[in-house]
Amino acid sequence: MAYTGSIPDTAARPRDWMLRMACRNEDPDLFFDSSREHEARLVCVTRCPVRAQCLAAVKAAEHGDHHDYRDGVVAGLNGHERWRLDADAPVRWGEPRHLPLSGPEPCGTYPAMLRHLWRGEPMDGVCWSGEVRRDYANRRWPKGRKAKPAP
Ligand code: SF4
Repeated sequence: MAYTGSIPDTAARPRDWMLRMACRNEDPDLFFDSSREHEARLVCVTRCPVRAQCLAAVKAAEHGDHHDYRDGVVAGLNGHERWRLDADAPVRWGEPRHLPLSGPEPCGTYPAMLRHLWRGEPMDGVCWSGEVRRDYANRRWPKGRKAKPAP
């Protein structure tokens, strides 16, 4: 039966979580500016109450896509990182291999932090320090040069 408006419509909908997205109150350009990636990641990881739903949605939407079709920071990961972590995404000749989801890198390194983010695992200060060190190294990189390649 169609909703007539005579009683409050309180039915839960699959996309209700989008009303609580932390990025709704942020400048949209923040998530597409590579020089502010760390800032965008912080919004997702430390302030967003629906990162788990966002991560599931972006994984479903981009599954198997090449990195050319992924853009911006979503759920704390930039497009290139989401591509590297998606084992089903295509790789062209000469491109870096996908990041393995189980590896020897200890907590506090960049690859370990990416794996935590991709799996939706909680992040503590040690995990987060991998990103902090990487961001610091990128900021010291000479202006005009592309960001230091990820390991
Ligand atoms: S986790 Fe997703 S919904 Fe939350 S702030 Fe980041 S991009 Fe927005």
